[in-house]
Amino acid sequence: MIVKARVNTHIKLYQYRKQVEYQSMTDQLTGIANRRRYERVSEQKWQEAIRLRVPFSICMMDIDHFKKYNDTFGHPAGDTVITAVSATAGRYLRRNTDFLARYGGEEFVVFMMGDSSRQAFEQMCRVRRAVEELHIPHSGSVSEWVTISAGGTTVLPKRGYSFDTFLKIADTMLYDAKRFGRNRVVWNDENMRQFSE
Ligand code: GH3
Ligand code: MG
Ligand code: MG
Repeated sequence: MIVKARVNTHIKLYQYRKQVEYQSMTDQLTGIANRRRYERVSEQKWQEAIRLRVPFSICMMDIDHFKKYNDTFGHPAGDTVITAVSATAGRYLRRNTDFLARYGGEEFVVFMMGDSSRQAFEQMCRVRRAVEELHIPHSGSVSEWVTISAGGTTVLPKRGYSFDTFLKIADTMLYDAKRFGRNRVVWNDENMRQFSE
């Protein structure tokens, strides 16, 4: 009896610890992975791709003219949009090798494994279209609806390559997507060539 009680206490403590750990890695607003979880997972996934010799895609996405959205509709409404965008992206990133995290504010980061640059790009185009098709009214953006821009890169990672270099490339692609007019996906392929929708 006493032994059983002790075991139960240990199980409860273990479960509690797991729950606290899970919560510390989860974004409160959207329920997806947060920045901390991203920091932990990124190196792991990168190493896994090197070991398995599979292409690795990194994508940054960001809601267009979101400051304007908040100014017009208020911060709580803005929070609802962040949640909707997160849920929509999540619907297209369901493989257990896919990863979606809230990078900060209205910015998200995505990993995909095993896809060519074309495949990863097209998947993010589906996400972009799906967000636009939510038909969340916006005023003063590039569309009458809320839209996102995304920038990504696909690489066959090797030892000696740095994850951060490719993250910076993805960020540059996002910057270009904004510059080229927003509501679009811009990609850098395996041969360092840029393409877009
Ligand atoms: P761009 O198209 O270039 O991305 O323009 P932007 O206005 O979206 O970009 P900017 O980075 O200037 O503004 C981002 C805004 O996102 C600023 C802030 O008001 C809003 N924001 C960041 N985090 C949150 C959040 O958690 N909730 C809400 N409602 N708004 C947020
Ligand atoms: Mg933005
Ligand atoms: Mg931003």
